[in-house]
Order: sequence, then C-alpha cells, then structure tokens
Amino acid sequence: MALADQFDGLLIDLDGVVWIGREPVPGSVETLAALLADGKEIVFVTNNPSKGPLAYAERMRELGVDIGPERIVTAGMVAARLAGEAAGPGGSAFVIGATPLRETVAATGATVVEGEAGREADVVVVSGYRGFDYEMLLTATLALANGAALVATSHDPTMPMPGGAWPGTGAILAAVETASGKTAAIGGKPEGHLFEMALDVVRGSFRTDGVQKEPRDPRVAMVGDRIASDIDGGRAAGLETVLVLSGASTRAEAEAAQPPPDHVVENLAALLR
Ligand SMILES: [Mg+2]
Repeated sequence: MALADQFDGLLIDLDGVVWIGREPVPGSVETLAALLADGKEIVFVTNNPSKGPLAYAERMRELGVDIGPERIVTAGMVAARLAGEAAGPGGSAFVIGATPLRETVAATGATVVEGEAGREADVVVVSGYRGFDYEMLLTATLALANGAALVATSHDPTMPMPGGAWPGTGAILAAVETASGKTAAIGGKPEGHLFEMALDVVRGSFRTDGVQKEPRDPRVAMVGDRIASDIDGGRAAGLETVLVLSGASTRAEAEAAQPPPDHVVENLAALLR
C-alpha cells in the first residue's frame, strides 16, 4: 500500500517539498496531480510570505496543479492577523517584508508605515526579505523600544534554494530580537495558528452544505522538509508527520530527532510508492 493511501487529507509545505527556488522538485507536480485525481484533500502550508494565495495558486496552475487560492495558507496571512490584532483599531504597522505581506497586513485595517514613521508603529512585522538593511533594523528597534508589539512569520533560519540555502526569516528576526531584547509572536509553523487555519479548510472540504461526507474522521498528515517547523508543528497539531528529504532537514537529523517524524521519505513522489 502506498503511504498516501493511509491519509484522506494532506497539509503540504511548498519550499523544499514542491519546489526549490523556481525549480520544481522532480516528480512533485505529477505526484500532486495524482493525489488530487485520487480525491485527496490537499492544503498547501508555507512559512514563505513572499507571495499571497492568489499568486501561489497561479504558480501551481502554471506547473499543472489545478488548485484555487483557498487551498493555500501562508504564514503571512496568520502573521498579518496577529499584527492587526496587536495594532488595534486605527493602529499602525512597520513591516519588514515584500509587497504581498505589506498588503496582507494593510488588509487587516492597520496602517502600514515606512521610513522614520515606522519608529512610532504599534506593531513590527518581520519576515525574510531581500530588501532588509540597517535602516529597517534601526526603525524596528526604536519602534519596539517605544512599546510596539513584535510579530514574525517564522523562526526558519534558512530557505532551500538551488545551490545552497539562503538566509530566512529567522536570521533577520534574530537581528531584530537581539537589538530590541523582545521575543516575537510567530504566525507560521511550528506554532498552532497556521495549522488551525489549514485544518479548517481540510475538514471543511469533507462537508457539503454543513453535512459531513465520509470519512467522518478524516486522517490528515503534515508533509514537510523541516523538522523544527513542519514536523514538530504537525505533531503538536495532532497530525501524523511525513518528512521529505528534498529540502532543509537530513536523514541524520531525522534519526536524531526526539521524537522522530512518523515517516521519512526521499521526496513527495515517494508518497505514491
Ligand atoms: Mg519547507
């Protein structure tokens, strides 16, 4: 029996699982198409907030995986919600992140401020961002000293890329936390908020007009490439866990992990074997 046959629904990470940078992991696209054709309920969960759900769904469709934006949950969506709650009505946010994350934060009602105005922000939001520089670190540090709340998309230290991992959100967050002495609230994996949003979508897809279709108690697994976010978070959310070795974590790390992932496979395609 293939591993995928043990599950009705899957939460699947993107970076290091479906693709690495702009390159699809070999076999991943065909595997996703086969899983969808087999009726698996799939929600993609990513700590990478550099795109919104619409852009991720479009990229999926370009690759040949036909899914809608409601099937994508990003750490940016969760972090934006936390930031909006922290900013409060009429509050302001200073965002270290790309345009899609700034737009998502703005959609919560917070006013996104830039430059020196950021020093008075009510909340600082941190994500992996190639435009990050000392001025942003300075603005964030002064805002936090002024009492701003601190929210980040993840702790992930790196992001898998062709030719070697690039610095991730955690690397930038370390600078902000070191300078400010504050600890961020985390929107993404391994914290529970993102899993709650994704599981709502998966479980909702087993219902029609409020009536539960079979199965009544769907078996859902988390599939990801990083033990500290995907596997630890999936387990904490009550899910069975599948580590793929196509991204961040190695087999040696999986064997040393306490507790280890429930399943360790080479890549996404191995779910069908
Ligand atoms: Mg990943």
